[in-house]
Amino acid sequence: MGLNQSRKQSVSYVCLTCHEKEEIRLSVVRDFDLMDDGDPTTPPMFSWEQCGGEMYPEYYKGVHGMEYKLSDIL
Ligand SMILES: [Zn+2]
Repeated sequence: MGLNQSRKQSVSYVCLTCHEKEEIRLSVVRDFDLMDDGDPTTPPMFSWEQCGGEMYPEYYKGVHGMEYKLSDIL
């Protein structure tokens, strides 16, 4: 794997309440995804400490092959 391909190791998350953006490490998101055996139609989500809102990934492909896009829910 080249340098360029290994660079993007995070997922952009956006707060649904205040629209702040936060980069979350891919390894963290994947761990969360693996632990969550619940509804496969929702991505791993985090709460944003600044306002308590829920954070949704701008784009994330889950460990089971599901793709999640912020544009799908807006
Ligand atoms: Zn917020």
